[in-house]
Amino acid sequence: MKVSILKTLKDQKGQYVSGEALSNRLGVSRTAIWKHIAALREEGHSIESSSRKGYKLLSSPDIILAEEIQAELATGVFGREMIYMDTVSSTNTVAKEKAAENYPEGTVVIANHQTAGKGRLGRKWESARGTGIWMSVILRPDITPAQAPLITIFAALAVARALEQVTGVRPGVKWPNDIVYHKAKVCGILTEMSAEIEQVNYVVVGIGINVHHNIEDYPAAIRETATSLKAVTGRRFERKTIIKNVLEQFEEVYRGTQDVKKELIEEYKKYSLTLGSMVKVTSRDSIIEGEAVEITDEGELMVRTKDGTTHTIFSGEVSVRGLYGYV
Ligand code: ADP
Repeated sequence: MKVSILKTLKDQKGQYVSGEALSNRLGVSRTAIWKHIAALREEGHSIESSSRKGYKLLSSPDIILAEEIQAELATGVFGREMIYMDTVSSTNTVAKEKAAENYPEGTVVIANHQTAGKGRLGRKWESARGTGIWMSVILRPDITPAQAPLITIFAALAVARALEQVTGVRPGVKWPNDIVYHKAKVCGILTEMSAEIEQVNYVVVGIGINVHHNIEDYPAAIRETATSLKAVTGRRFERKTIIKNVLEQFEEVYRGTQDVKKELIEEYKKYSLTLGSMVKVTSRDSIIEGEAVEITDEGELMVRTKDGTTHTIFSGEVSVRGLYGYV
C-alpha cells in the first residue's frame, strides 16, 4: 500500500493529489492513507500536505525498494528473488548462505550498507551507507571451476554496458573486472564459488558500484583510484535504475555465454583499457612486466615480456597494475 501511494505521488510529479482521490483509487480509508504518508515521511520522503489540496511529493531519498525494482525489471530469472537488507557484513557472504539454502539461480542480495565489504585477495571494499550499490547475484552454471573466470569477465561487460546506457558516458574496463572512469574505479566485482573438481555448485558474483560519493568521502588511501557516478557526471542517479539495468544486461550476457561467446569477448575487448598497455602482473610467486597483447576467448590475459615470451594470465590470484598508473 505504502508503495502504491508513493507511486501515485511520483506519477503526479510535484502536483497535489487529494486524500480522497488516493483513498478511492486504492480502496482504503483516508485515515489509512494519512498513516502511510506519515510512514513515508519517516523514511525520508518530503511530502507537503494541505487540508484542501491533499498531498504533494517534494523529494525522495534514494531508497532501494525490492518491489519497486521488480515491478520494472525486464528479466526472466535475475532478480525475480530479491533480498534487501539495510546492513550486512558482506552481500557475498549472505548470498553464499542463501545459495547453500538452495535459493534459485538469479537470486539477488542487495544491501544499503556493508560492514565488511570484500575485494579480491582478501582486500577491503568501502561500502558506506546509502552511497552505492552493494549487491550479489547467485548463479548455478553448468560449468567446471576452470570456466568460472569467464563469468567475472562477462559481469564486467554487463556493468560496463549498463553504466554506459544509464549515464551516457562510456566507461573502460581494467582486466579482469574493474569498471573505470578517468583512471579511477567506479565498480569492483568479486566472484566466489563453491565447487567440486569437475562441477561448480554455485557462483556468487558480488558487484559494488559507487554512485553518490564525493571524492572526499573516500579514505585517503583510495582517493586517487576511486570515483563515483556523481563525481564523473555531476549528476544524481537513482540506484534502482542502475540495479535494473545491470541485472537486465547481466542476464542477457550470461545467457549468451555459450552461443555468442566470441562476440561478447570482442565487445569486452572494446571496453578494455588493459589491452595494448604495459602492465605489471603480481601473483603469489612471481611478478611479470610486459605488454598486454591479447584477451583469449576464455577471458585470459596474454602478456608479452621483453624477452619475447608470451604468458597466459588467469584472473584468479593476480593483481594487474598499469606501469603508468592504476589502469
Ligand atoms: P584490485 O584487483 O584492482 O586491487 P579489488 O577487487 O581487490 O581490486 O578491490 C579492492 C581494492 O579496491 C581495495 O584494496 C581498495 O584499494 C579499492 N577499493 C576499496 N573500496 C573501494 C570503493 N568503494 N571504490 C573503489 N575502490 C575501492
